[in-house]
This record gives sequence, C-alpha cells and structure tokens, in this order.
Amino acid sequence: MEKKDEASSLALRVVIDSYEDIIGTGGKNSILNFAGMGKFIDSPPDYSEEDMIPQEYVDKIIRISSEVIGESGTKAIIVRAGRSTMRHIVDESESAKVLSESKDMTPRDKMKALLNLYAQQINRLPDFEFTTDGAVFHNPGCTLCNGVKTKKPFCNYISGVFEGMGIFIAGFYNIRCEETLCKASGDDECRYDITYGD
Ligand SMILES: [Zn+2]
Repeated sequence: MEKKDEASSLALRVVIDSYEDIIGTGGKNSILNFAGMGKFIDSPPDYSEEDMIPQEYVDKIIRISSEVIGESGTKAIIVRAGRSTMRHIVDESESAKVLSESKDMTPRDKMKALLNLYAQQINRLPDFEFTTDGAVFHNPGCTLCNGVKTKKPFCNYISGVFEGMGIFIAGFYNIRCEETLCKASGDDECRYDITYGD
C-alpha cells in the first residue's frame, strides 16, 4: 500500500468518537456495522499518531454516515461531526495542543500552520490561497467522494474539520467553511472557502 493511502490510527479514532458525540453510541455502532468495521465497536483503534490504517477506513465511515443518517439533515450533522473531530484532536495530539496554547502566533498564523499540516497529513499538495479574512483550499485529489455522485457538494465533513480548527485550536470562534466545488457533483476539484469571521 502506498503511503498516500494511509491515515493515522488517531485520525480514525477521532472520527469514530466525533460520530458518537453527535449521534450517540447506537448511531455510531450502526455506521461501523454498515461500513463493515464492526470490529471497532468493542475494540476501537488507538489514539496513536504512529500506527497507520488504510485511509479508506476514514473515508468509508464518513461516506456511510450519509447513507445511515439519510439525505435530509445530513449536512448539519456531518459538519458538526467534522468540528468535533478537531476537539478530540486537541485532546489527543500533543502538537495540536501546543499550537492551541501558543501565545506567539496569531490566529491567522495558526490557521496557516494547521491547513499546511492537514494537507501534509492527507498527503496532498498544500494548494491554498490566503486572504486577509480567510483561505481557499483546493483538493483535486480528494478521496472522500470517490465513486460518489451527488447534486450538492458531498464533502461537508471536511468543512466541519476546517471550522473545528478555527474554533478549537486557532481561536476563530465564528469561522465558517463551505465546500463550493465538489468532484462528487462533477467539478474538477473539491474546493473549500474558509471565512475566519473575526
Ligand atoms: Zn468533495
């Protein structure tokens, strides 16, 4: 398996935890069962940044959640799960904790560092445009919406992750992110427009 197809065990665990936060233990277990990952119900993956798992596990849980929760109302729930993921990251990742507590960096600098770190973690080019009040992230290599066809942008989970970065780490409490282009609806890339809001 190529490196780009892997994610940390921590990434998988915080995604599972975030669904438990938003839709409860029963809902989280349904998603794991539907995704064929029932083994993680009794023995969830470790909060380890060193142990690697297939990236497809993470993508599949998020994709399956749309099916289990259903079309209506899915976006709000999935954005919240994405945000919650970053709250768990602060609890479990030493580097995220250090960044959130740093007094030397402005919230803007923290967001830049976080977005670059994110691109590195998912093994994508750091393709950003930074403006004074926000950032745009281009992800032509998105794996989350592989094989998905939708009318509206599908990768709302990632919007929630970016909002969570601002809320729980950088200190932008009114941050908003919209996925404005999505490969699932026929665009060439998934594109996220982030507005810091402060
Ligand atoms: Zn997408």
